[in-house]
Amino acid sequence: MTKHASKPRNTALVRAAAMSAVLASAGLAPKAWAQSTDLSACMAELRPAARSGKVSDDTWARHTAGLQADFSVIEKLNFQPEFRMPIWDYMSALVDEERVADGAARLTQHRQALVRAEERFGVDPATVVAVWGVESNFGQTFGKYPLVQALGTLSCHGRRQSFFRGEFFAALRILQAGHIAPERFVGSWAGAFGHTQFMPTTFERLAVDFDGDGRADLMDSSVDALGSTANFLARAGWQRGLPWGIEVKLPAGISLAGEGRRTKRPVAEWTARGVRRIDGTALPESLGNLGLLTLAGANGPAFLVTRNFDALYSYNAAESYGLAIAHLSDRLRGGGPFATPWPTDDAGLSRAERRELQGFLTMRGHDIGPIDGMLGEKSREAIRAEQKRLGMEANGRGGQKILKALRGG
Ligand code: CA
Repeated sequence: MTKHASKPRNTALVRAAAMSAVLASAGLAPKAWAQSTDLSACMAELRPAARSGKVSDDTWARHTAGLQADFSVIEKLNFQPEFRMPIWDYMSALVDEERVADGAARLTQHRQALVRAEERFGVDPATVVAVWGVESNFGQTFGKYPLVQALGTLSCHGRRQSFFRGEFFAALRILQAGHIAPERFVGSWAGAFGHTQFMPTTFERLAVDFDGDGRADLMDSSVDALGSTANFLARAGWQRGLPWGIEVKLPAGISLAGEGRRTKRPVAEWTARGVRRIDGTALPESLGNLGLLTLAGANGPAFLVTRNFDALYSYNAAESYGLAIAHLSDRLRGGGPFATPWPTDDAGLSRAERRELQGFLTMRGHDIGPIDGMLGEKSREAIRAEQKRLGMEANGRGGQKILKALRGG
Protein backbone atom coordinates (compact mmCIF):
# COMPACT_ATOMS: atom_id res chain seq x y z
CA MET A 1 0.00 0.00 0.00
CA THR A 2 1.31 3.37 -0.91
CA LYS A 3 0.63 5.08 2.36
CA HIS A 4 3.12 3.01 4.30
CA ALA A 5 4.88 1.35 1.44
CA SER A 6 8.40 1.88 2.70
CA LYS A 7 8.42 -1.03 5.10
CA PRO A 8 6.93 -4.43 5.64
CA ARG A 9 4.15 -4.60 8.11
CA ASN A 10 2.91 -6.07 11.34
CA THR A 11 4.89 -7.36 14.26
CA ALA A 12 6.48 -9.95 11.99
CA LEU A 13 8.97 -7.18 11.26
CA VAL A 14 10.43 -7.30 14.74
CA ARG A 15 10.71 -11.08 14.78
CA ALA A 16 12.21 -10.96 11.30
CA ALA A 17 15.01 -8.68 12.40
CA ALA A 18 15.90 -11.15 15.13
CA MET A 19 15.67 -14.02 12.65
CA SER A 20 17.96 -12.25 10.16
CA ALA A 21 20.56 -11.86 12.87
CA VAL A 22 20.32 -15.58 13.70
CA LEU A 23 20.69 -16.64 10.07
CA ALA A 24 23.55 -14.23 9.45
CA SER A 25 25.44 -15.57 12.43
CA ALA A 26 24.85 -19.14 11.22
CA GLY A 27 26.62 -18.30 7.98
CA LEU A 28 23.38 -18.26 5.99
CA ALA A 29 23.64 -14.63 4.96
CA PRO A 30 21.83 -13.70 1.73
CA LYS A 31 23.56 -14.49 -1.51
CA ALA A 32 24.01 -11.98 -4.26
CA TRP A 33 22.34 -13.59 -7.26
CA ALA A 34 22.91 -12.16 -10.72
CA GLN A 35 20.36 -9.49 -11.62
CA SER A 36 18.52 -11.85 -13.92
CA THR A 37 14.76 -12.28 -13.92
CA ASP A 38 15.33 -16.05 -13.94
CA LEU A 39 14.84 -17.23 -10.35
CA SER A 40 15.40 -20.94 -10.99
CA ALA A 41 18.90 -21.20 -9.47
CA CYS A 42 17.79 -19.38 -6.31
CA MET A 43 14.62 -21.45 -6.08
CA ALA A 44 16.67 -24.65 -6.34
CA GLU A 45 18.74 -23.48 -3.39
CA LEU A 46 15.64 -22.55 -1.36
CA ARG A 47 13.91 -25.87 -2.02
CA PRO A 48 15.30 -27.79 1.03
CA ALA A 49 14.41 -24.94 3.41
CA ALA A 50 10.93 -24.76 1.91
CA ARG A 51 10.51 -28.50 2.41
CA SER A 52 11.52 -28.14 6.08
CA GLY A 53 9.02 -25.29 6.16
CA LYS A 54 6.24 -27.74 5.23
CA VAL A 55 5.80 -26.59 1.65
CA SER A 56 4.93 -29.74 -0.29
CA ASP A 57 6.74 -30.76 -3.47
CA ASP A 58 3.51 -30.39 -5.37
CA THR A 59 2.88 -26.84 -4.09
CA TRP A 60 6.48 -25.86 -4.71
CA ALA A 61 6.46 -27.15 -8.27
CA ARG A 62 3.11 -25.59 -9.08
CA HIS A 63 3.97 -22.09 -7.88
CA THR A 64 7.72 -21.70 -8.40
CA ALA A 65 8.27 -23.35 -11.78
CA GLY A 66 9.25 -20.62 -14.23
CA LEU A 67 8.88 -17.91 -11.57
CA GLN A 68 10.32 -14.62 -12.83
CA ALA A 69 11.75 -11.85 -10.67
CA ASP A 70 10.00 -8.50 -10.54
CA PHE A 71 12.74 -5.99 -9.77
CA SER A 72 10.27 -3.20 -9.14
CA VAL A 73 9.78 -4.65 -5.65
CA ILE A 74 13.52 -4.30 -4.98
CA GLU A 75 13.25 -0.65 -6.00
CA LYS A 76 10.41 -0.30 -3.48
CA LEU A 77 12.54 -2.00 -0.81
CA ASN A 78 15.40 0.43 -1.41
CA PHE A 79 13.25 3.53 -1.84
CA GLN A 80 14.16 6.36 0.52
CA PRO A 81 11.40 8.97 0.42
CA GLU A 82 12.79 12.45 -0.07
CA PHE A 83 9.45 13.83 0.99
CA ARG A 84 8.29 13.29 4.55
CA MET A 85 4.59 13.81 4.94
CA PRO A 86 3.67 16.03 7.92
CA ILE A 87 1.39 14.34 10.45
CA TRP A 88 -1.46 16.75 9.62
CA ASP A 89 -1.40 15.70 5.95
CA TYR A 90 -1.32 12.04 6.91
CA MET A 91 -4.23 12.40 9.33
CA SER A 92 -6.39 14.62 7.16
CA ALA A 93 -6.45 12.07 4.35
CA LEU A 94 -6.86 8.98 6.52
CA VAL A 95 -9.58 10.40 8.74
CA ASP A 96 -11.79 12.54 6.51
CA GLU A 97 -15.58 12.88 6.28
CA GLU A 98 -15.66 10.37 3.43
CA ARG A 99 -13.98 7.63 5.48
CA VAL A 100 -16.18 8.39 8.50
CA ALA A 101 -19.31 8.05 6.32
CA ASP A 102 -18.00 4.87 4.65
CA GLY A 103 -17.14 3.43 8.06
CA ALA A 104 -20.58 4.23 9.44
CA ALA A 105 -22.14 2.37 6.51
CA ARG A 106 -19.90 -0.66 7.17
CA LEU A 107 -20.84 -0.63 10.86
CA THR A 108 -24.49 -1.01 9.87
CA GLN A 109 -23.86 -3.49 7.09
CA HIS A 110 -21.73 -5.85 9.19
CA ARG A 111 -23.39 -5.28 12.53
CA GLN A 112 -24.01 -8.94 13.23
CA ALA A 113 -20.44 -10.08 12.54
CA LEU A 114 -19.04 -7.13 14.50
CA VAL A 115 -21.16 -7.91 17.55
CA ARG A 116 -20.03 -11.53 17.32
CA ALA A 117 -16.39 -10.40 17.05
CA GLU A 118 -16.76 -8.24 20.14
CA GLU A 119 -18.29 -11.11 22.10
CA ARG A 120 -15.51 -13.47 21.13
CA PHE A 121 -12.45 -11.19 21.07
CA GLY A 122 -13.46 -8.21 23.20
CA VAL A 123 -12.76 -5.57 20.56
CA ASP A 124 -15.57 -3.11 19.85
CA PRO A 125 -17.10 -2.67 16.36
CA ALA A 126 -15.87 0.92 15.80
CA THR A 127 -12.25 -0.06 16.46
CA VAL A 128 -12.40 -3.08 14.14
CA VAL A 129 -14.02 -1.04 11.36
CA ALA A 130 -11.47 1.78 11.84
CA VAL A 131 -8.60 -0.66 11.30
CA TRP A 132 -10.33 -1.93 8.17
CA GLY A 133 -10.78 1.62 6.87
CA VAL A 134 -7.17 2.62 7.41
CA GLU A 135 -5.69 -0.68 6.21
CA SER A 136 -7.52 -1.18 2.94
CA ASN A 137 -10.13 1.59 2.71
CA PHE A 138 -12.74 -1.03 3.65
CA GLY A 139 -11.52 -3.55 1.13
CA GLN A 140 -11.00 -1.17 -1.78
CA THR A 141 -7.19 -0.97 -1.77
CA PHE A 142 -5.38 -4.29 -1.64
CA GLY A 143 -2.23 -3.75 -3.68
CA LYS A 144 -1.68 -5.32 -7.08
CA TYR A 145 1.53 -7.34 -6.79
CA PRO A 146 1.21 -11.10 -7.34
CA LEU A 147 2.44 -12.24 -3.93
CA VAL A 148 4.35 -15.37 -4.89
CA GLN A 149 6.32 -13.39 -7.45
CA ALA A 150 6.93 -10.41 -5.14
CA LEU A 151 7.99 -12.55 -2.17
CA GLY A 152 9.98 -14.92 -4.40
CA THR A 153 11.92 -11.93 -5.75
CA LEU A 154 12.51 -10.52 -2.28
CA SER A 155 13.69 -13.96 -1.12
CA CYS A 156 16.42 -13.99 -3.75
CA HIS A 157 17.41 -10.34 -4.13
CA GLY A 158 17.83 -7.32 -1.91
CA ARG A 159 18.88 -6.81 1.65
CA ARG A 160 16.26 -8.63 3.71
CA GLN A 161 16.16 -12.03 2.06
CA SER A 162 15.98 -14.15 5.20
CA PHE A 163 12.94 -12.22 6.44
CA PHE A 164 11.16 -12.50 3.10
CA ARG A 165 11.93 -16.21 2.76
CA GLY A 166 9.87 -16.84 5.87
CA GLU A 167 7.02 -14.86 4.31
CA PHE A 168 7.48 -16.59 0.94
CA PHE A 169 7.16 -20.06 2.47
CA ALA A 170 4.16 -18.93 4.52
CA ALA A 171 2.52 -17.58 1.34
CA LEU A 172 3.00 -20.96 -0.34
CA ARG A 173 1.54 -22.76 2.68
CA ILE A 174 -1.53 -20.48 2.54
CA LEU A 175 -2.07 -21.52 -1.09
CA GLN A 176 -1.39 -25.14 -0.17
CA ALA A 177 -4.08 -25.01 2.51
CA GLY A 178 -6.55 -23.63 -0.01
CA HIS A 179 -7.43 -20.51 1.96
CA ILE A 180 -7.05 -18.22 -1.05
CA ALA A 181 -7.19 -18.93 -4.78
CA PRO A 182 -3.78 -18.44 -6.47
CA GLU A 183 -5.10 -15.91 -8.99
CA ARG A 184 -6.58 -13.84 -6.15
CA PHE A 185 -3.35 -13.80 -4.15
CA VAL A 186 -2.13 -10.24 -4.74
CA GLY A 187 -1.07 -7.50 -2.34
CA SER A 188 1.52 -4.90 -1.49
CA TRP A 189 5.06 -5.13 -2.86
CA ALA A 190 6.21 -6.39 0.56
CA GLY A 191 3.62 -9.15 0.82
CA ALA A 192 0.79 -7.65 2.91
CA PHE A 193 -2.56 -8.66 1.45
CA GLY A 194 -6.31 -8.49 1.69
CA HIS A 195 -8.79 -6.53 3.75
CA THR A 196 -6.52 -6.57 6.80
CA GLN A 197 -3.18 -6.28 4.96
CA PHE A 198 -1.68 -9.12 7.00
CA MET A 199 1.74 -10.48 6.09
CA PRO A 200 1.60 -14.23 5.30
CA THR A 201 3.11 -15.27 8.68
CA THR A 202 0.63 -12.96 10.45
CA PHE A 203 -2.13 -14.64 8.48
CA GLU A 204 -0.94 -18.03 9.66
CA ARG A 205 -0.88 -16.95 13.28
CA LEU A 206 -4.01 -14.83 13.44
CA ALA A 207 -6.43 -15.19 10.53
CA VAL A 208 -9.74 -16.78 11.47
CA ASP A 209 -12.56 -18.32 9.47
CA PHE A 210 -15.32 -16.15 10.86
CA ASP A 211 -18.05 -16.88 8.30
CA GLY A 212 -17.73 -20.63 8.81
CA ASP A 213 -17.02 -21.78 5.25
CA GLY A 214 -13.88 -23.62 6.30
CA ARG A 215 -11.35 -21.13 4.91
CA ALA A 216 -9.83 -17.98 6.34
CA ASP A 217 -10.19 -15.79 3.28
CA LEU A 218 -8.91 -12.27 3.84
CA MET A 219 -9.20 -11.45 0.13
CA ASP A 220 -12.87 -12.13 -0.45
CA SER A 221 -14.61 -12.41 2.92
CA SER A 222 -15.22 -9.17 4.83
CA VAL A 223 -16.53 -11.23 7.74
CA ASP A 224 -13.32 -13.28 7.97
CA ALA A 225 -11.39 -10.00 7.82
CA LEU A 226 -13.36 -8.42 10.68
CA GLY A 227 -12.94 -11.50 12.87
CA SER A 228 -9.22 -11.69 12.05
CA THR A 229 -8.68 -8.02 12.87
CA ALA A 230 -10.40 -8.44 16.24
CA ASN A 231 -8.28 -11.55 16.88
CA PHE A 232 -5.10 -9.63 16.01
CA LEU A 233 -5.91 -6.87 18.49
CA ALA A 234 -6.96 -9.33 21.21
CA ARG A 235 -3.65 -11.17 20.83
CA ALA A 236 -1.83 -7.84 20.90
CA GLY A 237 -3.18 -7.25 24.40
CA TRP A 238 -6.42 -5.37 23.75
CA GLN A 239 -8.40 -4.99 26.96
CA ARG A 240 -12.16 -5.21 26.65
CA GLY A 241 -13.99 -1.97 27.44
CA LEU A 242 -10.87 0.18 27.84
CA PRO A 243 -10.70 3.31 25.62
CA TRP A 244 -7.51 3.79 23.55
CA GLY A 245 -6.97 7.15 25.25
CA ILE A 246 -8.21 10.73 25.37
CA GLU A 247 -7.18 14.11 24.07
CA VAL A 248 -5.80 16.23 26.91
CA LYS A 249 -4.83 19.78 27.74
CA LEU A 250 -1.21 20.20 28.86
CA PRO A 251 -0.18 22.87 31.37
CA ALA A 252 2.15 25.59 30.05
CA GLY A 253 5.80 24.63 30.32
CA ILE A 254 5.30 20.89 30.91
CA SER A 255 8.44 18.95 30.07
CA LEU A 256 7.97 16.33 27.38
CA ALA A 257 11.48 14.93 27.87
CA GLY A 258 11.36 11.19 28.44
CA GLU A 259 7.58 11.03 27.94
CA GLY A 260 5.94 8.89 25.30
CA ARG A 261 3.47 6.16 24.54
CA ARG A 262 5.51 3.61 26.45
CA THR A 263 6.23 5.69 29.56
CA LYS A 264 3.03 4.85 31.41
CA ARG A 265 2.19 6.77 34.59
CA PRO A 266 -0.81 6.58 36.92
CA VAL A 267 -3.65 9.04 36.34
CA ALA A 268 -2.90 10.69 39.72
CA GLU A 269 0.60 11.57 38.55
CA TRP A 270 -0.67 13.24 35.37
CA THR A 271 -3.27 15.09 37.42
CA ALA A 272 -0.57 16.30 39.82
CA ARG A 273 1.44 17.59 36.87
CA GLY A 274 -1.50 19.69 35.76
CA VAL A 275 -2.80 17.62 32.83
CA ARG A 276 -6.58 17.83 32.35
CA ARG A 277 -9.17 16.53 29.92
CA ILE A 278 -9.41 18.72 26.85
CA ASP A 279 -12.53 20.42 28.29
CA GLY A 280 -10.59 21.32 31.45
CA THR A 281 -12.20 18.71 33.71
CA ALA A 282 -10.36 16.10 35.78
CA LEU A 283 -8.83 13.02 34.16
CA PRO A 284 -10.95 9.87 34.56
CA GLU A 285 -9.48 7.46 37.17
CA SER A 286 -10.71 4.44 35.22
CA LEU A 287 -8.07 4.65 32.50
CA GLY A 288 -5.26 3.07 34.53
CA ASN A 289 -1.69 3.85 33.56
CA LEU A 290 -1.25 6.25 30.69
CA GLY A 291 1.47 7.36 28.30
CA LEU A 292 1.66 10.85 26.83
CA LEU A 293 1.49 10.99 23.04
CA THR A 294 2.37 14.21 21.23
CA LEU A 295 3.13 13.77 17.55
CA ALA A 296 3.67 17.46 16.79
CA GLY A 297 5.25 18.83 19.95
CA ALA A 298 3.70 20.50 22.99
CA ASN A 299 1.67 22.92 20.87
CA GLY A 300 -0.15 20.27 18.84
CA PRO A 301 -2.88 17.85 19.94
CA ALA A 302 -1.81 15.82 22.99
CA PHE A 303 -3.19 12.49 24.17
CA LEU A 304 -2.96 10.22 27.17
CA VAL A 305 -3.01 6.69 25.83
CA THR A 306 -3.75 3.31 27.39
CA ARG A 307 -2.36 -0.13 26.62
CA ASN A 308 -5.06 -0.45 23.97
CA PHE A 309 -3.26 2.22 21.97
CA ASP A 310 -0.21 -0.06 22.08
CA ALA A 311 -2.34 -2.82 20.55
CA LEU A 312 -3.27 -0.48 17.68
CA TYR A 313 0.40 0.52 17.37
CA SER A 314 1.47 -3.10 17.01
CA TYR A 315 -0.59 -3.46 13.85
CA ASN A 316 1.87 -1.37 11.89
CA ALA A 317 4.56 -0.15 14.30
CA ALA A 318 3.86 3.57 13.73
CA GLU A 319 2.33 6.00 16.22
CA SER A 320 0.79 8.14 13.47
CA TYR A 321 -0.88 5.02 12.15
CA GLY A 322 -2.19 4.09 15.61
CA LEU A 323 -3.56 7.59 16.08
CA ALA A 324 -5.35 7.48 12.71
CA ILE A 325 -7.16 4.29 13.72
CA ALA A 326 -7.88 5.60 17.22
CA HIS A 327 -9.29 8.86 15.88
CA LEU A 328 -11.35 7.20 13.16
CA SER A 329 -12.85 4.87 15.79
CA ASP A 330 -13.81 7.90 17.91
CA ARG A 331 -15.39 9.57 14.87
CA LEU A 332 -17.36 6.38 14.20
CA ARG A 333 -18.67 6.58 17.78
CA GLY A 334 -19.92 10.08 17.04
CA GLY A 335 -16.92 12.04 18.30
CA GLY A 336 -15.68 15.19 16.60
CA PRO A 337 -12.31 16.28 15.22
CA PHE A 338 -9.46 16.92 17.68
CA ALA A 339 -10.10 20.05 19.75
CA THR A 340 -6.50 21.24 19.39
CA PRO A 341 -5.47 22.19 15.86
CA TRP A 342 -2.20 20.88 14.41
CA PRO A 343 0.53 23.51 14.74
CA THR A 344 0.56 24.70 11.13
CA ASP A 345 -0.78 27.72 9.23
CA ASP A 346 -1.41 25.48 6.21
CA ALA A 347 -3.68 22.62 7.28
CA GLY A 348 -3.88 19.35 5.37
CA LEU A 349 -6.43 18.28 2.76
CA SER A 350 -9.10 15.60 2.84
CA ARG A 351 -9.17 13.17 -0.07
CA ALA A 352 -12.04 15.15 -1.65
CA GLU A 353 -9.93 18.32 -1.43
CA ARG A 354 -6.93 16.48 -2.87
CA ARG A 355 -9.02 15.42 -5.83
CA GLU A 356 -10.20 19.01 -6.24
CA LEU A 357 -6.58 20.20 -6.17
CA GLN A 358 -5.61 17.57 -8.72
CA GLY A 359 -8.48 18.77 -10.91
CA PHE A 360 -7.06 22.30 -10.88
CA LEU A 361 -3.57 20.98 -11.67
CA THR A 362 -4.90 18.98 -14.61
CA MET A 363 -6.94 21.95 -15.82
CA ARG A 364 -3.78 24.04 -15.82
CA GLY A 365 -2.14 21.54 -18.17
CA HIS A 366 -0.04 19.47 -15.77
CA ASP A 367 0.24 15.76 -16.51
CA ILE A 368 -0.31 14.26 -13.06
CA GLY A 369 -1.92 10.98 -14.07
CA PRO A 370 -5.30 9.90 -12.68
CA ILE A 371 -7.19 12.11 -10.23
CA ASP A 372 -7.07 9.69 -7.32
CA GLY A 373 -6.74 11.85 -4.21
CA MET A 374 -3.14 10.68 -3.74
CA LEU A 375 -0.55 13.41 -4.04
CA GLY A 376 2.41 11.54 -5.52
CA GLU A 377 5.61 12.83 -7.08
CA LYS A 378 3.89 14.06 -10.27
CA SER A 379 1.27 15.99 -8.30
CA ARG A 380 3.96 17.51 -6.06
CA GLU A 381 5.96 18.61 -9.08
CA ALA A 382 2.87 20.30 -10.53
CA ILE A 383 2.11 21.94 -7.17
CA ARG A 384 5.69 23.25 -7.06
CA ALA A 385 5.27 24.80 -10.52
CA GLU A 386 1.96 26.43 -9.51
CA GLN A 387 3.40 27.69 -6.24
CA LYS A 388 6.23 29.30 -8.18
CA ARG A 389 3.81 30.90 -10.64
CA LEU A 390 1.72 32.28 -7.76
CA GLY A 391 4.72 33.62 -5.87
CA MET A 392 4.32 31.15 -3.01
CA GLU A 393 7.00 29.07 -1.34
CA ALA A 394 7.63 26.25 -3.84
CA ASN A 395 7.68 23.27 -1.44
CA GLY A 396 5.43 20.97 -3.51
CA ARG A 397 3.12 20.30 -0.58
CA GLY A 398 -0.62 20.06 -1.17
CA GLY A 399 -2.25 22.00 1.66
CA GLN A 400 -5.12 24.46 2.15
CA LYS A 401 -3.06 27.43 0.92
CA ILE A 402 -2.37 26.20 -2.60
CA LEU A 403 -5.92 24.84 -2.91
CA LYS A 404 -7.39 28.23 -1.94
CA ALA A 405 -5.03 30.05 -4.29
CA LEU A 406 -6.04 27.84 -7.23
CA ARG A 407 -9.74 28.18 -6.36
CA GLY A 408 -9.23 31.91 -6.72
CA GLY A 409 -7.83 31.33 -10.23
CA1 CA B 1 -14.28 -18.05 5.76
